[in-house]
Amino acid sequence: MRIPLLLGLGVFLATAAQAKVCKLEITGNDQMQYSKKELVVEKDCTEIALTLKHTGKLPKNIMGHNWILVKTSDVTDVSSKGVAAGLDNGYAPTSDKRILARTKLLAGGESDTITVKKSDLTVGEDYTYFCSFPGHFAVMKGKLVVR
Ligand code: ZN
Repeated sequence: MRIPLLLGLGVFLATAAQAKVCKLEITGNDQMQYSKKELVVEKDCTEIALTLKHTGKLPKNIMGHNWILVKTSDVTDVSSKGVAAGLDNGYAPTSDKRILARTKLLAGGESDTITVKKSDLTVGEDYTYFCSFPGHFAVMKGKLVVR
């Protein structure tokens, strides 16, 4: 009875070690809207490749968009620090540990893909993503659900 048990363990270890990159995509437009109010990281993902695409045409000093991930409890403060950081810093403080992930600030037609390790996130935590361009936070935000 030893052999089936070892085989079973081997399959289990192989599965556990396998990386699964889950792709998430969201767009922002010239009407100051994200395409999604919620993004879900499924249980079997080991890494997330998130792409933000700006489908508009306006320049980034007029209608720039980014995607910043924080715990929901940090969003208001990080958002105001982002405005203070200014356009040259993509409206995000450069070394703020509360920012868990961020894309570049994009102009119309641009896109940016970032990767986030699932192990850096907590299952069930209340996460919010938002655009830190001044005035956008009120409408450009959503929930990241980690399963
Ligand atoms: Zn924006």
